[in-house]
Amino acid sequence: MDIPRAVANFRFFATAILHESSEAHVTDARALNYTLRHPMGVAGLISPWNLPLYLLSWKIAPAIAAGNTCVAKPSELTPLTSNRLAELSLEAGLPPGVMNIVHGYGAKAGAAICEHPDVPLISFTGGTVTGAKVAAAAAPLFKKLSLELGGKNPNLIFADADLDDAIATSIQSSFANQGEICLCGSRIFVERAIYDTFVERFVAATRKLRIGDPSAPDTDVGALISEAHLQKVTGYLDLAKEEGGTIVTGGNRVDRDGFFLEPAVITGLGCECRVLQEEIFGPVVTITPFDGDDEAIRSANSTRYGLSATVWTRDLQRAHRVAAAMHAGTVWINCWLLRDLRVPFGGMKESGVGREGGLESLHFFTEAKNVCVKLA
Ligand code: NAD
Repeated sequence: MDIPRAVANFRFFATAILHESSEAHVTDARALNYTLRHPMGVAGLISPWNLPLYLLSWKIAPAIAAGNTCVAKPSELTPLTSNRLAELSLEAGLPPGVMNIVHGYGAKAGAAICEHPDVPLISFTGGTVTGAKVAAAAAPLFKKLSLELGGKNPNLIFADADLDDAIATSIQSSFANQGEICLCGSRIFVERAIYDTFVERFVAATRKLRIGDPSAPDTDVGALISEAHLQKVTGYLDLAKEEGGTIVTGGNRVDRDGFFLEPAVITGLGCECRVLQEEIFGPVVTITPFDGDDEAIRSANSTRYGLSATVWTRDLQRAHRVAAAMHAGTVWINCWLLRDLRVPFGGMKESGVGREGGLESLHFFTEAKNVCVKLA
């Protein structure tokens, strides 16, 4: 996913900039106002490890398309693909100095970018706690800021859903990339009438997932990024038991080199539990029953995050009603991770501020100026 989608980002923004337009307003026949958009200068771009090239190219491509140079810092855990990108950009003819890749730890290299007075704009993707530090560093310098942060995304399954599709896609949305995608649906809520059936079928499908070498085509679940992250994830499995939950399947270490963990399904926990409140970012989902639309919406919105949500129903009116009620920057109805790069992408609440994607990105990476010309 990482490389093809990085290619798509470059192609998309290379074309999008050709369609950029400017507004003009005639003011009572007395004046003409038009908007100029200027590049900002040096764009500071910081990204995480989970889709390392895709997430960085999502920032680099619009930044340079809009006429900026950039200083981009990938995660210290995944430096290699961006290095290769820098080499290829020179080969492709990008002038030296336009795309600068800086490696280093967040607290040092990342902080230096955020604090630098000659970097007027920061686009950051990463955890919510780090996002707060980035915002604090950028605020006194009044930098333009986009923060794409963590998520704890709900996946609502209503009783009238196409269950085959809902289960197959929910397996993807729960465990793709070992659950290390910010858009993974980690809290599944199922209408009570189909709860037992759903749990039984979902658990059976989870047990069929093949764990192994991530570069093998028939592998479904690879290793987690690091030992520290594995410990964080298994810590939440311990917490789930302490909070009274049941690990219905998975959660054991796999006996092979690397930080492999069986995908885990937890039941018996309510929305107030820490396991349903805090981002785990691994192959762990909870399943909780609900009764009716109101409880579904309350449950979905019961965290401080608001990145994405998924709704499964065949009732058209309910689909639109529930989508409108979600505190989430993206709502998928009867699908997951279908992305159109033209639409605004970002989070609500503690999942971030600002929107990127399509024109929003091109506007983010430019500064608007109004020119008012007196006509008469
Ligand atoms: P992280 O916040 O630890 O690190 C992200 C980046 O910030 C890294 O490059 C890191 O070096 C840097 N950094 C760390 N401290 C910094 C500081 N003080 N100043 C500036 N930069 C600093 O996140 P992570 O563990 O690499 O990634 C996982 C997180 O990213 C999860 O919370 C996930 O939800 C989130 N994420 C969000 C999106 C989204 O689009 N909203 C996409 C992918 C991942």
